[in-house]
Amino acid sequence: MDAMILNRADLYLTVFQNVQEGIVITDKQGSILSVNRAFTLTTGYQEEEVRGKSPSILQSGKQEPSFYVEMWASVYEKGTWQGEIWNRRKNGEIYLEWLMIDTVRNERGEITHYVGIFSDITDRKRTEEKLHLYSRIFENTSEGIIITDTKGTILWVNPAFTLTTGYLPEEAIGRKPSMLSSTQHGTEFYIEMWTTIYEKGSWQGEIWNRRKSGEVYPEWLSINTVRDENGNITNYVGMFSDITERKKSEEHLKFLAHYDVLTELPNRFLFHDRLSQALLQAQRVGRQVAVMFLDLDRFKWINDTYGHGVGDQLLQSVAARLKKCVRKSDTVARLGGDEFTVLLSNILEAKDAAKVAEKIFHAFSTPFQLDEQEFFITTSIGISVYPEDGVDLETLIKNADAAMYCAKEIGNTYQFFEPEMKKATTEKILLENSLHKALERGEFMVYYQPQIDVHSRKIMSMEALLRWNHPELGIVSPTQFIPLAEETGLIVPIGEWIIETVCRQNKAWQSQGFQPLKIAVNLSPRQLIDKFLPSTIARILRHSGLDPAYLELEITEGISLNHIDSNIKTINEIRKLGVTVSIDDFGTGYSSLSYLKKYPVDRLKIDRSFVKDIIHDPRNAAIARAIIEMAHGLNLKVIAEGVETEEELKFFVDNQCDAVQGYFFCKPMPVYEVEKKLS
Ligand code: C2E
Ligand code: MG
Ligand code: MG
Repeated sequence: MDAMILNRADLYLTVFQNVQEGIVITDKQGSILSVNRAFTLTTGYQEEEVRGKSPSILQSGKQEPSFYVEMWASVYEKGTWQGEIWNRRKNGEIYLEWLMIDTVRNERGEITHYVGIFSDITDRKRTEEKLHLYSRIFENTSEGIIITDTKGTILWVNPAFTLTTGYLPEEAIGRKPSMLSSTQHGTEFYIEMWTTIYEKGSWQGEIWNRRKSGEVYPEWLSINTVRDENGNITNYVGMFSDITERKKSEEHLKFLAHYDVLTELPNRFLFHDRLSQALLQAQRVGRQVAVMFLDLDRFKWINDTYGHGVGDQLLQSVAARLKKCVRKSDTVARLGGDEFTVLLSNILEAKDAAKVAEKIFHAFSTPFQLDEQEFFITTSIGISVYPEDGVDLETLIKNADAAMYCAKEIGNTYQFFEPEMKKATTEKILLENSLHKALERGEFMVYYQPQIDVHSRKIMSMEALLRWNHPELGIVSPTQFIPLAEETGLIVPIGEWIIETVCRQNKAWQSQGFQPLKIAVNLSPRQLIDKFLPSTIARILRHSGLDPAYLELEITEGISLNHIDSNIKTINEIRKLGVTVSIDDFGTGYSSLSYLKKYPVDRLKIDRSFVKDIIHDPRNAAIARAIIEMAHGLNLKVIAEGVETEEELKFFVDNQCDAVQGYFFCKPMPVYEVEKKLS
């Protein structure tokens, strides 16, 4: 400022022109007399442009008229007004100013002038808004935020902090963040953390803290330093998120990689891992290791028949029972499906594995309670022992699997691996692979075995028996491939093919003038639960033109008596078509008697096992007699199967059995032999 300025008026003028605030002076009518430089800078108007005009030229239109009414009312009443007001610059831009209006009065107290002093607060407003926005974000974010001073004293925390830690702001402010520390990290951890903050200005990582409740939880924490314009640290800001859930899902992923979710048993991966460990250990201490391969008998059937819910329950119950059969140091694993493995990591001799197998069979001897029904489940176990049956993981597993296949042939038993088993397993796998193509390649044939009327000694009917003409193995017995077809579900299309072939063949024979005979076709339990079976049979009968009276279906007793109602419904529908139904292998099932009472059938077939030795075993004879008597009492016909000798035939003749079937008269024969026999 000029040092020459001496008089007050000049001084005021200089101040008037140089202050940062815009100043406008009006007369008492409100006409502008003078404005300063800051006014021009803010509004864009030169003094000459506004002199004599009303300050209302600056109005933005953003304020309601009532705003101005109140403003002037305040000026008149109190002599002053101040507040925020939106005005418009010459260039049209709207800006926010902080305006003070004052009245200037003369000695008599009369208003002579008005003075408006204002400052452009657009920038300040922006900063304020930003701060407001920040605090809104901080208040609402799900990340916990702590702001401390340079000494680490907590100045401020946000609601998410309270939510996560359980501490209210007033419980945290004034304390140190160490109030949250758990004992999970040593001092080193914190030293390293603060060294990084000093050196790099920030740190982030996983840290275990303790909630007010005492619970320790993992969080992802980042700490940043806040500096002023001069680069001095003013605050630290810690931001963290609770990662308990993420941690849990990480743990879950780890679990998934090593365990079977359904049974919570180790999976294949973990089993292999444990087995290789056990083999290393056994090698060192010269002990033996046993690998047991376990497969549930008829699991697929239960799964298909009763649904996956029941199947899953069964697998869980099996897992629980298996675990009780072994020591803690042993491993029970589920490889998938109904395949379980047991690793006995430290045995003295192979016999120890047999003991565990016995224990497992004992555990299976009580029925499984699934979905309010009781199921008797059996299992087949194959065992291989290190080092005798293999020294590496793959061989031991493969050989236990082969032994299991052999055990399965018998069912409900265990088998130790023997070198010949390898061949049998390869054959079974070969069979399974080629069974899929057998139907389309036309490898199936039907053989027919006559059934003879006891009184007339004449052929009265025949049983159709399936044969598979395998390109490499030759004729394969149905006892070998029917269970396989049931397991794989192939039994349904194969079964349909048999019924169709038999109906067409029978019709052809009748057309050729042969004596009309009823032909019986075996049905697998799997086919009986198919609700489309009756309509399939009806269609086949229609297409072949065969009189339904010449078709019989043989059903067997399933492993359980569930599904009785729907089975009875199906049987009734089949019988309504005019087709007869017989019970095959009678006497071998679980509860033949109640079965018989409930099932609407026409004929019983006494199982071959009672016919065998009937002459020498009085018990078998008694059973056979009882069956015949009972059947007749229920108005059913009876046929004995597997009659091989004259004596056996005589027994059935003497005991009023209606018919017999067996090698004594005829073996099952292909079509051309049947034709020779019948003509
Ligand atoms: P199954 O229905 O009880 O058939 C009788 C079995 O006993 C037949 O064996 C037959 O060849 C045999 N057999 C007949 N007479 C004698 C005899 O005097 N002595 C001896 N030792 N055996 C005799 P196969 O043909 O091997 O059939 C075995 C089983 O395979 C059948 O038992 C039946 O359960 C099943 N099976 C056969 N064909 C079919 C079919 O088309 N569908 C279904 N689902 N199962 C079939
Ligand atoms: Mg049969
Ligand atoms: Mg039979």
